[in-house]
Amino acid sequence: MTSPHPQDSSAFPLPHPMAPQPAYPHPTAPPAGSFGPPLPGAVPLSPTLVAPPLTCRLCGALPAAFATFRAHQGVLMWMRFSRVDGPFCRTCGLAIYREVTSSTMWQGWWSPLSLVLFTPGTLIINRFTLAHINKLPAPIPGQPGRQLLPGAPVLRRVSSLAAVLPLLWAIWVASHILSDLTS
Ligand SMILES: [Zn+2]
Repeated sequence: MTSPHPQDSSAFPLPHPMAPQPAYPHPTAPPAGSFGPPLPGAVPLSPTLVAPPLTCRLCGALPAAFATFRAHQGVLMWMRFSRVDGPFCRTCGLAIYREVTSSTMWQGWWSPLSLVLFTPGTLIINRFTLAHINKLPAPIPGQPGRQLLPGAPVLRRVSSLAAVLPLLWAIWVASHILSDLTS
């Protein structure tokens, strides 16, 4: 029933999460042997030791937060679960949210369990994750990598029209249940 790779993220090829990100260009680099001023978002561990702040996995921007966006596909008895892990800055997080949610909106409705359980659950979880990412301040300009473009909102994409079909089906089922109850 399920895919042999339940957590396969190959549908959304991205840089490896542990791949080193280039550092922000530092216009006033401290002399060798000195730590210099802490970066924004840095967490002091002790008066002399400061943990590096989280940076976006995709563009290296600050600030960033851990997040996982999910996608789901389901056709008859075949299902596939995909995920894209952060950390993300606010801009890249929004872009990933829109990409995986749009994909789920047209590929996620075509198996019974996907229709009633996995796709609605995926959409709800992604929405909560986006709310978490949206709490971040805007990325500080000058990030070392290229930020993703968020593109059009999910509901303004053609792919979202596919969600009309399960909606019509749900209305049809609800109307039959109501007519059975009232007859
Ligand atoms: Zn980013």
